[in-house]
Amino acid sequence: MKIFEEVESEVQSYARSFPRVFHRAQGEFLYDEDGNEYLDFLAGAGTLNYGHNNPLFKETLLEYIHSDGITHGLDLHTRAKGEFLQVFSDHILKPRNLDYVMQFTGPTGTNAVEAAMKLARNVTGRENVICFTNGFHGVSLGALAATGNSHHRGAAGVSLNGVTRMPYDGYLGEGIDTTAYLDKVLCDSSSGVDTPAAVIVETVQGEGGINAASFEWLRNLQTVCKKHDMLLIIDDIQAGCGRTGTFFSFEDVGIQPDIVTLSKSLGGYGLPFAVVLIKPELDQWKPGEHNGTFRGNNFAFVTAKAAIEHYWQDTAFSRDVQRKGEYVSHRLAAIVEKYGDGNLTTRGRGMFQGINCVDGEVAGAITRQAFKRGLIIETSGADDQVVKLLCPLIIGDENLERGIDIIEQAVKDACARSKPLPEEFDFFDNVRRIA
Ligand SMILES: *Cc1c(COP(=O)(O)O)cnc(C)c1O
Repeated sequence: MKIFEEVESEVQSYARSFPRVFHRAQGEFLYDEDGNEYLDFLAGAGTLNYGHNNPLFKETLLEYIHSDGITHGLDLHTRAKGEFLQVFSDHILKPRNLDYVMQFTGPTGTNAVEAAMKLARNVTGRENVICFTNGFHGVSLGALAATGNSHHRGAAGVSLNGVTRMPYDGYLGEGIDTTAYLDKVLCDSSSGVDTPAAVIVETVQGEGGINAASFEWLRNLQTVCKKHDMLLIIDDIQAGCGRTGTFFSFEDVGIQPDIVTLSKSLGGYGLPFAVVLIKPELDQWKPGEHNGTFRGNNFAFVTAKAAIEHYWQDTAFSRDVQRKGEYVSHRLAAIVEKYGDGNLTTRGRGMFQGINCVDGEVAGAITRQAFKRGLIIETSGADDQVVKLLCPLIIGDENLERGIDIIEQAVKDACARSKPLPEEFDFFDNVRRIA
């Protein structure tokens, strides 16, 4: 462990919560150097929807490497890229009646967001982009401007401009449709909000605390976008690739975003990969305007194609994720009811759910307790107050049950500990009884 303290920067984050040296992983399991096994409910923060080292893609990737397939290809046409485009078009876009062209950006989510916002500004000739409270879109400066979190924003060192923040669904309490407020300020030439190029939004806010927007709110948001001639950008980097139960998190909503960003689980094998989906008429890039050395991660093309072929040719996988999502809902509701004392609530949809503990200390105590029992799970939200379940979607039923059993034990322990002693509690009487 010493080498990490001595040589690696203080910027480390997840490593602090799980101070072990990991060296092997398979499916929903991680193993440390001492041979301990951990159930992984963090799963690369939503990057390992198909599990660690998925055996269905491993052979394909190894064969590709053995045959000297292209590894790095800038943005050259390669067979691997062509085959990925074909499969994505045939099995993802066409069956959903979606008409998009695909831009390959540098392989991180934040780079896809940069490209999406840049394109929206260039196409409309406007600067302002509407973003939302608790939104997370990455940490490079353009994307960071759209991100809410003050900890991340504080590191920028420059002013973060070009956006206007609006309240997300539910931010002002139940029964208040915040898209009505957005519409109002855009109708009012004295509101102080410049006519925006676009709106960027997550359908379920991952890092912001698993806040799920209602379908009605998302439809109203699209209506406001159309009314004011703004582009709708859905950042599906964490919620997409099946996490909510469908490939795109917006499929069942009945909206058609103008631009979509995808990354995290898109590469399938945990390999870096990011794309922007663009309505053809908006694809007004000039050659090379947004470039990057690593836009052609051909290993990721190979595994992304395999993931789509194995999991998205029919609806079986999607239905299975929905079934597991219902199980998670059911279990979390029971846990909150049993131990929450009215202080805990559940949130999210599909396999993108969490327990809101309101208090970051309680949530932290739960994840620490869980880790002691062999479960890796993280928190999210402004105060790290939400315990966030992000297990691989391919997880076996038994392990899903086992993981949630551990969460239940951890919640039970953490809640018992944080509960104030009853007024009539007689400490000495208790000591006497224990003795
Ligand atoms: C993770 C994430 C990003 C940023 O992706 P990176 O690969 O970390 O740059 C952007 N948007 C959303 C919704 C994310 O969850």
